[in-house]
Amino acid sequence: MKLPIYIPELPGQKYSCHGCGACCRDFTVQLTPLDLQKLDEQGWREQLGQEYVVQFRGHSWLKQTDDGACVFLGDNGLCKVHAQFGLQAKPLACQFFPFMLSPNVRDTHVGISFACGSVAASKGAPLQTHRLDVRRMAELLPASAPMPVKLQGKLIASEAEVAIIETALDAWLSKQHISPATRYQGFAWLVTSLLQANLQNMRGEKLRLLVSTLTNAVEQELPLLDWPPPPPRAWTLLRQAVFTRIEDPKIGDLLKRGKVASVLGQLLRSRKWSSGRGISPKTAGFGAVDFARFDTTFGVFANECAGHARIPMTTNITEPAHLPNAHASPVILANQDIAAMDDLLQRWIRSSILGGRAWGSGLYGLPIDQGLGLILVNLLAALWLARFHAAGRGEQRVSLLDLQVAVGRVDRTSGRAVWLATPGERLRVKWLSHSDSLRLLARALV
Ligand code: SF4
Repeated sequence: MKLPIYIPELPGQKYSCHGCGACCRDFTVQLTPLDLQKLDEQGWREQLGQEYVVQFRGHSWLKQTDDGACVFLGDNGLCKVHAQFGLQAKPLACQFFPFMLSPNVRDTHVGISFACGSVAASKGAPLQTHRLDVRRMAELLPASAPMPVKLQGKLIASEAEVAIIETALDAWLSKQHISPATRYQGFAWLVTSLLQANLQNMRGEKLRLLVSTLTNAVEQELPLLDWPPPPPRAWTLLRQAVFTRIEDPKIGDLLKRGKVASVLGQLLRSRKWSSGRGISPKTAGFGAVDFARFDTTFGVFANECAGHARIPMTTNITEPAHLPNAHASPVILANQDIAAMDDLLQRWIRSSILGGRAWGSGLYGLPIDQGLGLILVNLLAALWLARFHAAGRGEQRVSLLDLQVAVGRVDRTSGRAVWLATPGERLRVKWLSHSDSLRLLARALV
């Protein structure tokens, strides 16, 4: 039985492909047996004069050129398969992007990837207008057993319970009368509260009561909480989380360098990110940054929370005052810049939750509480990475461009990078939530 399609009602979110080719340069595409058969029949070996498939770790992938682009990307920036045979002749993953389908027992939720520039900039047609295409894509998906959504641990959530959490968080994230900083700190507090609660005895109406109590209380609760700077370990774990979201080596490089050299290189980069000392390792798309320079960058929404806008993001610097500009006043951002950055984050997090990418089949089969924890870490990683990008450009303030780059980089791995589903990642979220560091980091970064 085909499940109904659920495309979230997000009037502010639009998308049409503008043919920028960024996804063809950025993603490594795994091929299904059907993709291989179609491409074979199209005669590409003869046309290209070279192999277009590469084998890696037991799977077939589209070959990439030395600069990382798909072998089918033409000089005009367009896909050769699409140009010659049409959209439906392309590999499944290419047809789907940027849509991400997450079936559960009730329906198939439709999410969208913010790694696509048109999605991030909300350019094109309303999401609902893509219904027919998405329906067709859903029919191409191999039939699999419906995946029930879990609430916490192994507890299966009822449809009503999923709706309670979805609706309450979406309502909080949509509130326009409160400042963005309060909204994201509040989101961190709500997610932390769910992660810390024992939901076993909070089922049905009790869950509704718990969630409505939390969402009604959050605005009053935030000013009453203690807000010490995040502990050093929180920053270390966040930098590790950033690293795991931006490290995505190309198959061609891995094959060229060999397994030992690749693993060693990854280990060294990981240690450098963890230490947060010295100059950052080479990162595609980002300028080299002295980690200490973060002491002179400001939170994304720093205009409105100047009192805590510049909390040191490194812990190895004991005297930040000696750094250039350490006492500089925030560069005041125009209201429309703040609004545009807030709009981007709101669309991203709301569409992740409503589009089925925050738990269940859309996020490694995680239960709701852990999935939301991962989404919150994604948000914190993107806020941190936006500052990293700004610092790499020699800027003290994050611009919309910095945030778009950061959100795109973080979102491209979400639900896709298998290493984010490991026990290590879950332990990271657990430590950050149980030490209350998620909300402290949120405060420091916004
Ligand atoms: S990144 Fe988005 S806009 Fe650019 S080619 Fe891919 S789908 Fe189209």
